[in-house]
Amino acid sequence: MNEANKLPRVELPADVRMDTLAVREGLPSTQWGENSEALFLTSCFTHPDAATAARRFANEEDAFVYSRFSNPSVTMMERRLAALEGTSGCIGTSSGMAAITLVVMGLLKSGDHIVCSQSVFGSTIKLLQDFGKFGVQVSFVSQTDVDQWRQAVRPQTRLLFAETPTNPLTEVCDIAALAGIAHAASAMLVVDNCLCSPALQQPVKFGADIVMHSGTKFLDGQGRVIAGALCASSELIDEKLVPVMRSAGMCLSPFNAWVVAKGLETLSVRVLAQSERALELAHWLETHPAVERVYHPGLPSHPQHALAMRQQSGVGGAVLSFVVRGGREAAFGVIDATRICSIAANFGDTRAIITHPASTSHGRLTEAQRQAAGIVQGMVRLGVGLEDVHDIMADLQRGLGAL
Ligand SMILES: *Cc1c(COP(=O)(O)O)cnc(C)c1O
Repeated sequence: MNEANKLPRVELPADVRMDTLAVREGLPSTQWGENSEALFLTSCFTHPDAATAARRFANEEDAFVYSRFSNPSVTMMERRLAALEGTSGCIGTSSGMAAITLVVMGLLKSGDHIVCSQSVFGSTIKLLQDFGKFGVQVSFVSQTDVDQWRQAVRPQTRLLFAETPTNPLTEVCDIAALAGIAHAASAMLVVDNCLCSPALQQPVKFGADIVMHSGTKFLDGQGRVIAGALCASSELIDEKLVPVMRSAGMCLSPFNAWVVAKGLETLSVRVLAQSERALELAHWLETHPAVERVYHPGLPSHPQHALAMRQQSGVGGAVLSFVVRGGREAAFGVIDATRICSIAANFGDTRAIITHPASTSHGRLTEAQRQAAGIVQGMVRLGVGLEDVHDIMADLQRGLGAL
């Protein structure tokens, strides 16, 4: 954030690589020399005298003032995530959805228009539609058909919003192509990078202007906190987003920021290990007689496999879906037969999480909308964790073997 960016930096050689930044970037330690980051649970900060307080409130001097504006634990997380995404700035938010609220409030006004993939996270679709009552219009287009995006752009279009891969179908869109369309229209491209995380995919490398995160997923990585963030140029953040944060207050709690900052230290190790397990499970499921279809970008059968491999460092990610023969009853049978997997609606956890999208995350859609989206009743989604992959295979086989 603005005032925080001018605060002292951790002294690191200029050319250190991503894994080092993930562990070391943040703020210098305090006078006590703590090795693990301190946790700054404080709502406000004190000043030596009234004149200093006045200068700090007027932004004439760099300091922490009030934790709705900035907080050292939040700044540590922001600097670390910005380093991983390759952006000069980052702003933490109370949740992934709060990050989307902040980007729309900060960049758009009544009369402006958004083009968004129809396959993004359900709450994202709902939230962007809700901004209609403030005069912001949104058009939904195919995740994978670049021409539809181009044709949906209007003179009022300010933002293109994409998520890649999507959940649960793991559809991949071409970030560079969408960035080209956005920039030709003087609009910005926002990419929700939840499913890959910067360990696999850095959207700004392909031309995205803003990267959105739910820190709730892989960034925390152990299913503990709700958190969010936006990564972009520090100019954009300072000029357009910080003022909204200061007044609207969708700020990240210091405790949650600290948890996410510690999570980032192990992000690439976790995401790579979980993705390896996911690919092994995807290959196994693809040959299973009780399984009709498997969705995972690492499979050569995935429709955008080549694009996914280019964009995602050659890794398919740790979320997969599969369709069992026998519809909803069979899907419920597989889910209920598990003894290790958690039945829940999250992913990006060290624990494997199994979900029936048609009755949970996509339960509010009509059956016709679900069919159009490809979320059939026989579909099961698996957020692959760090358990031994053979135990998870055995856990799925309990139900699959009975079909
Ligand atoms: C979970 C999720 C969100 C919302 O994040 P919250 O932290 O739950 O608010 C947005 N996009 C995607 C892809 C998600 O998986």
